[in-house]
Amino acid sequence: MSDSDQQPDTDQPANAVDSGALFAVCHARDWPWGEGENDNYGCVCVVCDQIYRGHKHSHICRRCHEKGEREWNAMTEEERDDRRRKVAREMREWYEANFTANR
Ligand SMILES: [Zn+2]
Repeated sequence: MSDSDQQPDTDQPANAVDSGALFAVCHARDWPWGEGENDNYGCVCVVCDQIYRGHKHSHICRRCHEKGEREWNAMTEEERDDRRRKVAREMREWYEANFTANR
């Protein structure tokens, strides 16, 4: 467990800690960034709508990812199947609404 895991989980946006000590501070929403040129972008989480630092093409902050992971791990297989069916149904509805309505 790294020091960043011990930090209090505040609701401050990720960029609030970005004041010259970028590599010394890791906000609860930020992903640990690597050496790649695309690993250290300011992003907006699609779940909590807050800014975080992560990969250029990421869409969810570390905090929301870990919360979802904990919820998933706590589910029974039956609940997971229900969730998979719900997601499949929502995806089908989204595709039908976005790719067939304009034809
Ligand atoms: Zn989030």
